[in-house]
Amino acid sequence: MSTYRAPLKDMKFVLNELAGLGEVGKLPGYEEATPDTVDAILEEASKFASGVLDPINYSGDQEGSKWADGAVKTPKGFREAYKQFCEGGWNALPFEAEWGGQGLPRLVSTPVQEMWKSSNMSFSLCPLLTQGAIEALLLRGSPELQRRYLPKMVEGSWTGTMNLTEPQAGSDLSLVRTRAERQGDHFLISGQKIFITYGEHDMSENIVHLVLARTPEAPEGVKGISLFVVPKFVPNADGTPGKRNPAKCASIEHKLGIHASPTAVMVYDKAVGYLVGEENRGLEYMFIMMNAARFAVGLEGVAIAERAFQRALAFAKERIQGRDLVQGAQGTNAAVPIIRHPDVRRMLMLMKSQTEAMRALAYTTAAAMDYAHKHPDAEARKQHQAFVDLMIPVVKGWSTETGIEVASLGVQVHGGMGFVEETGAAQ
Ligand SMILES: Cc1cc2nc3c(=O)[nH]c(=O)nc-3n(C[C@H](O)[C@H](O)[C@H](O)COP(=O)(O)OP(=O)(O)OC[C@H]3O[C@@H](n4cnc5c(N)ncnc54)[C@H](O)[C@@H]3O)c2cc1C
Repeated sequence: MSTYRAPLKDMKFVLNELAGLGEVGKLPGYEEATPDTVDAILEEASKFASGVLDPINYSGDQEGSKWADGAVKTPKGFREAYKQFCEGGWNALPFEAEWGGQGLPRLVSTPVQEMWKSSNMSFSLCPLLTQGAIEALLLRGSPELQRRYLPKMVEGSWTGTMNLTEPQAGSDLSLVRTRAERQGDHFLISGQKIFITYGEHDMSENIVHLVLARTPEAPEGVKGISLFVVPKFVPNADGTPGKRNPAKCASIEHKLGIHASPTAVMVYDKAVGYLVGEENRGLEYMFIMMNAARFAVGLEGVAIAERAFQRALAFAKERIQGRDLVQGAQGTNAAVPIIRHPDVRRMLMLMKSQTEAMRALAYTTAAAMDYAHKHPDAEARKQHQAFVDLMIPVVKGWSTETGIEVASLGVQVHGGMGFVEETGAAQ
């Protein structure tokens, strides 16, 4: 099975020639993103992706996460890899220095995240959800919630989740039924959530659930949903994880290609929760997290396409089958690697060009996020934000659909071997 190699040349081309890393690096606060520093970060990230995450990608999917009595054990190597990931500062890359982050532009964290996703999608889902939860707390959390949760989450020692979905409420979140009853300075949360990515696992010392729920007097529909922070362990005054909250994992789902990522069914039974922002504005706040997740999921399309291309290319260079249409180069009519056949080349070039186009779209949008965040002129910030709002659904929709088409071509290049799990093409 071929090892993932980050496409550094292609990534740097988009960063420098299309997305304008040089200009983004001039924005106030991003001065450290010099070309040399960014090159060094990409090099190091590519080593981590190939050396640490890639070797546990296939084995992790085969072994899967395992549930027993409410606890979830991730596959061999995941805990250690996550520890190394946090110690290396990778979790903190895009966040403000104020919370322990490295304050780098999204334009830099985006190619780095593409590497995590290409090398090990299951692993990458954990920091993805943490990042979304951090962004929601940064924008809408009270100073007290921020002080208590953000440093640990930025560091990665506490991970985050997004709790929207319930059995009867998928796309239509107006049907959310989880309840929140006020008790003094906090709420008691009761209900069931499904499909909660990394809802329970053994990689971090605490898990911070961001949960949509209704207070008793809330109006029907989407205008009656509030957002709560529900920690697995309620933090003590000194910030250490304290009492175990009744926020329990009842089982885990098994998802195609990402069996290592624990997709949890969560049951909240009067779990202590803290309101984020104002009551009944939860869905609006959750959209911050959902937008971060949408962009990241679009990037998954790019990453899976890149990985499928790399596997297909390696296979096409090795697999000997058929002869050249024109007699072999030396007139021997010898059997050739399938990459010599025009239709196989067509498939590979289609895979590569589509992947490059998706990457260009995603990175350009990431640059616009940086301008929307840091441009000194308020009107310019607004314009860039409008572009981001337009592009995020495009990045998500187009890149995930195209990622599937590219992966499907990758299976086709492998012929029958594309359906054999051991080649990795199916995953
Ligand atoms: C890999 C993965 C990870 C996930 N992680 C999380 C997580 O961490 N937290 C979380 O809360 N959820 C998570 N989800 C769940 C996700 O949010 C839901 O799957 C999603 O909201 C859709 O809901 P559903 O699956 O119930 O589909 P449904 O709403 O039942 O939709 C089924 C089909 O009907 C279509 N459909 C539905 N309504 C309409 C309509 N009005 N008009 C036209 N078509 C419609 C949909 O597009 C879809 O094709 C995850 C899902 C996946 C696949």
